Amino acid sequence: MDVSQQVVQAVQGIHPYQPGKPISELQRELGLTHVVKLASNENPLGPSPKALEKLISGMSDLARYPDGSGFALKQSLSSILSCDVSQITLGNGSNDVLVLLAEAFLTLGDHAVYSQYAFAVYHLAVQASGARASVVPALSADHPTSPLGHDLPAMLAAIEENTKILFIANPNNPTGSFIPRSELQDFLTKVPEQVVVVIDEAYFEYLADDLSYSAIDWLSRFPNLVITRTFSKIYGLAGLRVGYSVSSADIADYLNRIRQPFNVNSLALLAAEAALFDSEYVSQSKQMKIDGMKYLDDQLQNFPLTILPSQGNFILIDLNKDASQWNQSLLQKGVIVRPVGNYGLPQHLRVSIGTIEELSYFCEILTQIVDTV
Ligand SMILES: *Cc1c(COP(=O)(O)O)cnc(C)c1O
Repeated sequence: MDVSQQVVQAVQGIHPYQPGKPISELQRELGLTHVVKLASNENPLGPSPKALEKLISGMSDLARYPDGSGFALKQSLSSILSCDVSQITLGNGSNDVLVLLAEAFLTLGDHAVYSQYAFAVYHLAVQASGARASVVPALSADHPTSPLGHDLPAMLAAIEENTKILFIANPNNPTGSFIPRSELQDFLTKVPEQVVVVIDEAYFEYLADDLSYSAIDWLSRFPNLVITRTFSKIYGLAGLRVGYSVSSADIADYLNRIRQPFNVNSLALLAAEAALFDSEYVSQSKQMKIDGMKYLDDQLQNFPLTILPSQGNFILIDLNKDASQWNQSLLQKGVIVRPVGNYGLPQHLRVSIGTIEELSYFCEILTQIVDTV
């Protein structure tokens, strides 16, 4: 059998997602004991202690299926977000919800819009659906406030008659770029009402206080909006896989029809709810990002690189030359950062904000390798 002849055509052209290298893999490859991972924007504090407590208590129920409706977590989310339970869709990570959205709104002949350098999952989800995409060129690297960020007027202009869905990451990964409230609101007033606009707020909780806003507040005004959030980043539960969207109840109803009946596992449901209410852990995590960002800003000043402004818990650094030598040298010394050549950014590296201890190790290694790369 020639599999390539049999596989769905849309699947043929897909290149798989490239995750950050796991710590254990680098340890295995190089026989290293001390490895620092700054590659997947994970919370360096580890999970919330309240979530851990819940996990332990939940383990004895693992022979049972999870609550397929996610009742308790949705109740908690609806009270915190001031929305109705019927507006919430839970997913196996927000990645799951992004894929459900593509499945629900796109098929062969349809069209989607997202930005160059936007989160890679939009591209994957759209490709799998068989729909076409316009990848809108990003803002220039020397844009004063949003280098490599989303060009909203150009995204608006890319909307066609068959455009069903448009993805925006705010802040975006891997660029860290952020769209201020008035700009995004103005954009939404201009998008045709039949186009679903997905605002991916995976890093919402990390936004600086004076910039912070959520598109969730606009749902009643723009029923075509879908906001996705995750427990993988500030809530420190990346390994459990849980995220959600908030939308109109109508959209949520359709997503609910196509999701797997038990798409969120029982431990994830319990831990997410506990983390949601652990405000001490969340503010500690946010402070840690602020301190780490400042630390890197100071420490990296004398290196031949540029740091792009970021509202996420990571920075994108521009090395102004191919990044693979830097990346290899860092790996050799036990530091895992994220190359972003797959995003079309071969001269950049993305570095997650770890603990000061991890970041100081990173800077120490940079000092060691800078003359050799
Ligand atoms: C990390 C990330 C996600 C979340 O992925 P999960 O599937 O929830 O772990 C979604 N969007 C962006 C932009 C991200 O960086």
